[in-house]
Amino acid sequence: MTVAYQRSYIFREMGHAKSHMIEATSTVPVTFSFAGGLVEEVVRHEMERSAGGAGGDARATLAGEYRRLLDGIYILSGEARLVAAQRIHQQFFGRLGWTEFFATEFRDILPMVTAAWVGKAERDEGCFVDERRRLQVRLRRTRFEDREGLARFLRHEKMHAADILDPEFGYRNETVDEPTRIRYATLWCTSIDERLKGASLEPVTHDGLLQRARSLSRPKCPLCSLPTVHWGEVRDAAMTDWLRGQFAGWSPDQGLCERCLEWAEVNAA
Ligand SMILES: [Zn+2]
Ligand SMILES: [Zn+2]
Repeated sequence: MTVAYQRSYIFREMGHAKSHMIEATSTVPVTFSFAGGLVEEVVRHEMERSAGGAGGDARATLAGEYRRLLDGIYILSGEARLVAAQRIHQQFFGRLGWTEFFATEFRDILPMVTAAWVGKAERDEGCFVDERRRLQVRLRRTRFEDREGLARFLRHEKMHAADILDPEFGYRNETVDEPTRIRYATLWCTSIDERLKGASLEPVTHDGLLQRARSLSRPKCPLCSLPTVHWGEVRDAAMTDWLRGQFAGWSPDQGLCERCLEWAEVNAA
């Protein structure tokens, strides 16, 4: 089983993907495709608000046109009506500026991916890249109510995708324990926020993040507070008493690291 750091179900099988992530970029420009369900919900919601007066006169006119077009396809039945409705929603999605919005926000990474898709988030929202360098942007409908907020959200999410696509970052899948996975995700997000603020110029790599995540996940020695792999064992009562005398509140069941034990053995002698 492999465990991915950000979202466990999308980066599966990326383990040995490093070599083909360096592939030359495609010469055919990738454009976004948009999932019909999400497009319809976004357009419907935005047009209903515009019909109610939000967004001014131009928007109200657009909402009127939308309404008339939808009314016009009611003479169609079944499949034909669904197809016609879908076409209207895709068209209005573009006229509301969303097609352009995504093309602009992702301009810098589109040349690095083989496909790009925007759809509705079932569980996790965000940007995902699979082993074939296909980009998926998953969003809830409500995100579309605030363009500025959505742009800010995507600038962060897009960096996760950009890192995965960057051979220098060196992303790969590995099995890690849950605390490490969570810390890795947190450290990764923090590093993205720092880079977006221009605060960090240090190169961020998968290995670097993982190393930090691993060391932070380790339990700490109660005496020296350092993350610890090798634990010592206090074997006699005299040593326990001596340590208790040195460290108020310490008890043998809390343990101590090997280095602290060595130090104690030298000093208690
Ligand atoms: Zn993040
Ligand atoms: Zn220690």
